[in-house]
Amino acid sequence: MSTTAPVSLVTGANRGIGRETARQLAALGHTVLLCARRAADAERAAAELAPDVPGTLLPYRLDVTDAEGVDALARTVDARFGRLDVLVNNAAVNYDTGRRATHVDLDEVARTLETNLFGAWRTAQAFLPLLRRSAHPRLVNVSSESGSLTHMSGGTPAYGVSKAALNALTRKLADELHGDRILVNAVCPGWIATDMGGPGGAPVDRGAAGVVWAATLPDSGPTGGFFRDGKPLDW
Ligand code: NAP
Repeated sequence: MSTTAPVSLVTGANRGIGRETARQLAALGHTVLLCARRAADAERAAAELAPDVPGTLLPYRLDVTDAEGVDALARTVDARFGRLDVLVNNAAVNYDTGRRATHVDLDEVARTLETNLFGAWRTAQAFLPLLRRSAHPRLVNVSSESGSLTHMSGGTPAYGVSKAALNALTRKLADELHGDRILVNAVCPGWIATDMGGPGGAPVDRGAAGVVWAATLPDSGPTGGFFRDGKPLDW
């Protein structure tokens, strides 16, 4: 299936901000590879969203902690499309509000990094050859102001460190991929009322809009930045 529409991949897109990001990209006419840990979850979300958007939503199983699965999906996307235009590393776990860095279980920290940092990192590595074949490649790491060193405070140790590291990775990739024209940015969606964010946050369409902004930047757009609602945040 070749397409002239932008081909976008969103991880953790069966619920929350990822699902809404997939919807908004499909509303712009993108062909969206809607990825979820379980195939049935991806299929359900794609089927629910498809009737109301002009773009195409294609469900795929993707657990970002499964290196072989990530590589296999990259091969599948290569065979089907020959390129990827937008990668949104959205999947994340463990907003560990009840924990403290002084005595948090380091196995829990490692598990959190495995998804929030290494999951995004290995997915980026696997899809870079396909992004390089895009005319307008974009890579968005969905981060959090919890990872801002400027505003870093105690608590949420695993999550905060994982997002600070994801921000560092964003800078590394942006610099290394400058010559390949790939715009790489980190986006904080803000406090959003999802399963992770809990009640009281802003609606999910608001959080996803900032992600979609970074996913659809013009060629003259920024790279190596940290943004919320399209505005720079302190690292
Ligand atoms: P959420 O509702 O908890 O959804 C998280 C998504 O990530 C789910 O689809 C989940 O899949 C998926 N996921 C977890 N581990 C995965 C793995 N190993 N492989 C693939 N997918 C995996 O979270 P959210 O609020 O939408 O958050 C989305 C992003 O925004 C995250 O990066 C989060 O850190 C960031 N963020 C959120 C807020 C907020 O207030 N909500 C604020 C700042 C930043 P399952 O359904 O299979 O668990």
